[in-house]
Amino acid sequence: MSDVELVLRSTRVITPEGTRAASVAVSAGKITAVLGYDAEAPPGARLADLGDDVLLPGLVDTHVHVNDPGRTEWEGFWTATRAAAAGGITTLVDMPLNSLPPTTTVGHLRTKRDVAADKAHIDVGFWGGALPDNVKDLRPLHEAGVFGFKAFLSPSGVDEFPHLDQDRLAQSLAEIASFGGLLIVHAEDPHHLDAAPRQGGPKYADFLASRPRDAEDTAIAQLIAQARRLDARVHVLHLSSSDALPLIAAAKAEGVRITVETCPHYLTLTAEEVPDGASEFKCCPPIREAANQDLLWQALADGTIDCVVTDHSPSTADLKTGDFATAWGGISGLQLSLAAVWTEARKRGHGLEDVVRWMSTRTSELVGLGQKGAIEAGRDADFAVLAPDETFAVDPAALQHRNRVTAYAGRTLYGIVKSTWLRGERIVTEGEFTEPKGQLLTRDH
Ligand SMILES: [Zn+2]
Repeated sequence: MSDVELVLRSTRVITPEGTRAASVAVSAGKITAVLGYDAEAPPGARLADLGDDVLLPGLVDTHVHVNDPGRTEWEGFWTATRAAAAGGITTLVDMPLNSLPPTTTVGHLRTKRDVAADKAHIDVGFWGGALPDNVKDLRPLHEAGVFGFKAFLSPSGVDEFPHLDQDRLAQSLAEIASFGGLLIVHAEDPHHLDAAPRQGGPKYADFLASRPRDAEDTAIAQLIAQARRLDARVHVLHLSSSDALPLIAAAKAEGVRITVETCPHYLTLTAEEVPDGASEFKCCPPIREAANQDLLWQALADGTIDCVVTDHSPSTADLKTGDFATAWGGISGLQLSLAAVWTEARKRGHGLEDVVRWMSTRTSELVGLGQKGAIEAGRDADFAVLAPDETFAVDPAALQHRNRVTAYAGRTLYGIVKSTWLRGERIVTEGEFTEPKGQLLTRDH
């Protein structure tokens, strides 16, 4: 142990075997051992005694829209990674759309990496995009290290990222399956959306009716059929409709290679409480009713839903108008996701171990980041230090997001992130940040 540089000691360390008092030894940015609580720090090693604050693996958020370059006024690598770090997230994977260019060719990926390189306060990876006309770009993007490919089955909200119809989906998925890649899908069926009433205006109930559950359920059924036929690996993004859960459970039982995520806003906010005109609550698919939310929690508990990611998708405040039909659809939650999910989880009888599984371990597995997602020897020394029983009221002014519009404003949440560590270095301590120390990640590295 002579090369140990740092020992973090806490009465509550969340390890794959459970929560226990332990001392975690770190060397050269890696966890070298999880030792007994009373283990002495070797000479020359720094001891960080965290008392009763919980040491958990840094969260891995695989669904973030950074929008940089091109729509940097919406967010950006500097602000997004600071917000993430403040919220206990140590790795994010950036979505391929809303930036200009979108991440749909190797050249565009290079542009994005160049922009992110000196702004990343945490580790950053990239998804590629699957468009109707870029099948030839998928394999080169895969080889350049993207973690998989995002596709929409209905209009994405931005013109430069068109959706795939069923034929194009089959074509892209066959190509992705040919090199063992992963397709991640915004699953809403455009025909069901077209057939739904479109009232517009400030009433949330009208917006909810315009994005019905059967649009999600149908698209997911189609995706399952394609994944089964091609033996391809697919992932359902931001599941909102609980009606799709039996389909998903049956597909998993049958051996279809499908995983599913949901988001903090579906788990903590309900349609019943959205005020008229409050488009900070607008996202697609939408936040649904409380009874729907209960079923999402049940599905997390039984493993039908694999993981929880933010789908942080901000815009400038002026695009969040009072008309739900035209307002930008996307919820900002990057800095608050851990606290929001933990607040609801504890109320429902779940432990922090569950939250870590959903927001760190399983998301790491989704993208094959074997060096992240758990506190055990050999993994990166990425940590969040959390005071889980302390509360705070969400003050938008305290957010590091570029645009401080949030659906969580005024809520009291449990769980204060005291510090966040990346490869053994403390990158944020109670709102004070170091210079950016994040790395750009590629698949299998
Ligand atoms: Zn998204």
